[in-house]
Amino acid sequence: MWQELFAKASDAALRRIDEALSRHSYLEQLAKRLREVKLEVINNLDYYIEEAVKSVERVGGKAYLAEDGETAREIIGRIVGSGKVVVLGKSNTALEVGLREHLQKLGNEVWETDLGEFIVQIGGDKPSHMIAPALHLSRGDVAKLFKERLGIDVGDDPAALATAAGEFLRAKFAKADVGITGANAVAADTGAVVNVENEGNIRKATVFPPVYIAIAGVEKIVPTLLDALELALVQAAYHGLYPPTYVEVSAGPSSTADIELVRVRPAQGPREFHLVLVDNGRRAAAKDPALREALLCIRCLRCGFVCPTYRAIGREFGEPPYVGPAGVMWLAVTRGVAAAGPSSVKCLHAGNCREVCPMGINIPEVIAYIKRKYVEEVGAPSNR
Ligand code: SF4
Repeated sequence: MWQELFAKASDAALRRIDEALSRHSYLEQLAKRLREVKLEVINNLDYYIEEAVKSVERVGGKAYLAEDGETAREIIGRIVGSGKVVVLGKSNTALEVGLREHLQKLGNEVWETDLGEFIVQIGGDKPSHMIAPALHLSRGDVAKLFKERLGIDVGDDPAALATAAGEFLRAKFAKADVGITGANAVAADTGAVVNVENEGNIRKATVFPPVYIAIAGVEKIVPTLLDALELALVQAAYHGLYPPTYVEVSAGPSSTADIELVRVRPAQGPREFHLVLVDNGRRAAAKDPALREALLCIRCLRCGFVCPTYRAIGREFGEPPYVGPAGVMWLAVTRGVAAAGPSSVKCLHAGNCREVCPMGINIPEVIAYIKRKYVEEVGAPSNR
């Protein structure tokens, strides 16, 4: 079933990517430039982290650097507290640190609002794709879940299911106390967070609740807001969603500059803006001669669409949320070679991923490096 669903989705996405690239020739130029921009940041990561923190504070927000996943959970848990309604925008970094489960343990009502992630949540399942997390489920599977878990019976028409989910979540957005999203990019010069999406749920999560929190790996930092916007365009194009339906820029809490105006019409957006930057192995990877390439990844997942291993075994190649060729690299960065090793040995080294990566990452070489280190650490399989 996975192979069938994946083939249909990936063939369509690859067609859309090719179309966008042939129609808008500037995209490839932007991607080439972004590689250089991201290399500059990786070479000077501490400097750019400091700049991003200062910029967030300059626009009235609060910024934090979490050394690991546990610290990230604690920081966000303190901001959120308990007894709140929390709406989450799609974030692999939030999944990486186990944020939803942590906030639920603190006594909060927490909802994923990306349709795919919402389906995965109500199914008590794990994502099978970094951008399309419910790719492993058919429309029939989703209809069954909606009926059993939510009491929603609208048949298996995808549009009807999406509308039903939208209505369910609209009520959650309306009473949400806190919105949390990831980030496609963070601009060091302005402290602005940029998100690209096609559902509009991130827009609601960043604007409706009185408190907005963005969680982002430190590698998401780019020098300027212009770089961040360009990165959002490139990420969307190389995932097959160009032009992107929505691009959000969030910089600081809702403006209260005009007091007279605010008295008449209170500010509608969030009163608090927090940015939690997550290290969790990224700064160490920046110093590793091979693994640092992984930090150039913008998570467009074009590599996954052409990978024969991922096509054959899906989320068994990696570990959710980090699956597919890019996922194996991200597992090594965030959880170490021991965690990524079992997946790295499944790589066939076909090389298709390298051919299509907009950041020019030699993915097979990075995975071969992980494989070598893994064998060195745990010993060759015949010795075990
Ligand atoms: S490794 Fe390259 S192709 Fe794969 S997700 Fe990252 S940037 Fe995209």
